[in-house]
Amino acid sequence: MLALPILCLLALASAPPPEVPSSTPSRVLTSLIPSQVTVTGFLSSCFRGAKPSHDPVVAADEADRNAPPFVREELDLLRRGDLAPAQSAWHDACATHIYPTGALAVGETGAAKACETCAVVSWMWLNQALLESSGDPRYADLVEKLLWNHLPALRSADGAVRRYAPLNGPGPSRADPLPDCCATAASRVLALAPSLIYATGPAGIYVNQFCDSSATLKTPRGERLGLDQHTGYPGREDIALRVRLPVDEKFTIFVRVPAWSEGPTVRLFYYAPQQATPGTYFAITRTWSDNDIAHLRFPSSPRWVPGTGPNAGTTALIRGPLVYVATGGAASGPAAVSTSEVPRRLPAPEGVLGPFYRVGFRSANGLTTDATLIPFANLSTIASDEPYATWLPTAP
Ligand SMILES: [Zn+2]
Repeated sequence: MLALPILCLLALASAPPPEVPSSTPSRVLTSLIPSQVTVTGFLSSCFRGAKPSHDPVVAADEADRNAPPFVREELDLLRRGDLAPAQSAWHDACATHIYPTGALAVGETGAAKACETCAVVSWMWLNQALLESSGDPRYADLVEKLLWNHLPALRSADGAVRRYAPLNGPGPSRADPLPDCCATAASRVLALAPSLIYATGPAGIYVNQFCDSSATLKTPRGERLGLDQHTGYPGREDIALRVRLPVDEKFTIFVRVPAWSEGPTVRLFYYAPQQATPGTYFAITRTWSDNDIAHLRFPSSPRWVPGTGPNAGTTALIRGPLVYVATGGAASGPAAVSTSEVPRRLPAPEGVLGPFYRVGFRSANGLTTDATLIPFANLSTIASDEPYATWLPTAP
């Protein structure tokens, strides 16, 4: 009678180790697929012509192949489920190698041949993967910068893909007519970008990005859920998030509150606005009904950020996620920008991302002239060989 248990123990002890399931990244959040989201407004013009049928799995593989070694190593860590070392490497990179546009600068700070499109794209996918693995909104903050700066700037005025979009240009900008690393990366990211906006998780629905759009999701109970964003964001600071539901249901919508926002608020109906904390998710838990609207407000004012390292002595204008550039003579001339003046807001032309800002430039002989700075995103409206500058010399 005792022999059987002993045999069983022996059998267990000598059994080969259980097969480790093929590694899949653990996910806290799952993004929507692009076909569930319709983007309208400014970004829709950037996505026009991109093929929405791209398979995200193939895209991830391609991004991997084109990625700089640092990004490739981090993606490998995430695939093995090693989140903490991937986050640690991300922190190290962000401490010294991030442009205000969100792009990663690896050994190319300030160089004309910088911010290669395929590298920018793979860096963005890494940040989205970190967001989905951790649920930490700081990665969505970085995706937002790329979404509103480099993505719209990927194409030049004649429709070609820019191979490089350095902060001061022009760089060697056009991709080859034949598909290359940058042309394929650009078409993939433009097709998949709508999937960055919403995600679902065990705790509810997550709003990670803001742009004029409509989406179709499922509620936790499996009902059809429509979410519409009516907004001129990021040029404007208000977003109306409308819920469409066939039947009332209680669940939570988590709204990312951008880290850069100044005094952000969330308001339901005509109740008093509630203060939100920048750099967190604001949880709205309630029994939602059809046509309920949450009013989000993310104020920001223009400010100058100083350049460091090779860019010391220069400054860049930012507002919210937007980074600004001077074009033409103001970009290539010796005049320095006067940061003591408050930039004056100007409306942008119809169909172009705004606002613009008017700032004073001081030349060596003390004369001050005004020039207009436009969002970096609008590089897609200027010719590939036209000079532009994000980093501007600072007047003493
Ligand atoms: Zn490339």
